[in-house]
Amino acid sequence: MRQVLGFGLKWDAAVGGAGPFKASGTARSFSLAASSPQLFKQSSPARFPRKQRLFAPSPTVVSSSLQRRRNCSSRTMSSEELDKQPPHEVKKYLQQSHDRIFESNKKWAEEQKAKNPEFFTHLNAGQSPEYLWIGCSDSRIPAEAITGLGPGEMFIHRNIANLVCSTDLNVMSVVNYAVRHLHVKHIVVCGHYGCGGVKAAMTPQDLGLLNPWLRNIRDVYRLHEAELDSIKDEEGKYNRLVELNVVEQARNIIKTAAIQQSYAKSGYPIVHGWVFGFKDGLLKDLEIDFEGQLKDIQKIYNLTS
Ligand SMILES: [Zn+2]
Repeated sequence: MRQVLGFGLKWDAAVGGAGPFKASGTARSFSLAASSPQLFKQSSPARFPRKQRLFAPSPTVVSSSLQRRRNCSSRTMSSEELDKQPPHEVKKYLQQSHDRIFESNKKWAEEQKAKNPEFFTHLNAGQSPEYLWIGCSDSRIPAEAITGLGPGEMFIHRNIANLVCSTDLNVMSVVNYAVRHLHVKHIVVCGHYGCGGVKAAMTPQDLGLLNPWLRNIRDVYRLHEAELDSIKDEEGKYNRLVELNVVEQARNIIKTAAIQQSYAKSGYPIVHGWVFGFKDGLLKDLEIDFEGQLKDIQKIYNLTS
């Protein structure tokens, strides 16, 4: 199960090749090694002898944030490696990986204050974000970092495969609060190529608690079966399912009363569908026709009155 939840990096090692998608080397092409060689080098366990990874800081580098990142990653150990350690080493490692967060946090707070003495006064005053981001929980997609936004600028919800289900009280509360109380101007559903959640959904395998969650993606496949079946290239088919999943989740947002009523009254928010690519770090705008979709959806799901 852990391998399945590795989302992309290890998925194809865990499952077979049956079903609409064959597990192949394709998924590995989305790995950090391919998309970010530098990052991969820094975090590769093979680069450092264990003692060095655990305890030795990296050599001096120019930027303090890069230095911090390098120090952190130099201590990173894979689960497989950690499982081979004696209990006292595991305990020490866990303490260290806990403490480094607080070390980094302290430095971050100091840096913000040095750049802007009023930073935390403003942060404490409240939030008024322009954007609601609904993305995948995948650890490789830091929403604020890839969009250049800072604290206070984006309200964020993430779950496996960026799903918007009408029975999920969590995402529905987030959408409702963001629209009715924060008055966000844009709602973004952002998926990503190489999504392990989407791939796992198409695996002919019992994934336990994940079954009902991932079933939503199988439903997207069923809705677009003709188009997806016509794509012969497995990677192309998988990428298209990622895109279609984003579009369907965006449509699910448009079906809510909060969006329909706010748009009728104020002309916002607009709902967008984007996809992030690990290979180049760029966002692709699927250019959803929001007004067209809204009109289409309201034939059946009109909740404005
Ligand atoms: Zn994902």
